[in-house]
Amino acid sequence: MATATPTKTIIDLERLNRLKEGCAACGHKFNLGDPVVMACGAWEGGPRFIHEHEAVLDPLSGGYVEKRCYSTRRGRIG
Ligand SMILES: [Zn+2]
Repeated sequence: MATATPTKTIIDLERLNRLKEGCAACGHKFNLGDPVVMACGAWEGGPRFIHEHEAVLDPLSGGYVEKRCYSTRRGRIG
């Protein structure tokens, strides 16, 4: 079975320096040790690192999707 492996990582010093703009989902800065995932979302420019708890694993694509974006896609807002 060819499923994409969801990338789940922990913020280390190198990522902390690289991801200065912070989380694309909540806008907060990352902290050392934060669990993050590469996720697709409503932002422009492809997958970005966001906090793990702000993403859901999409069984269709096998990758992470930002929660708000995911519920929008499923057409279940509110
Ligand atoms: Zn976040």
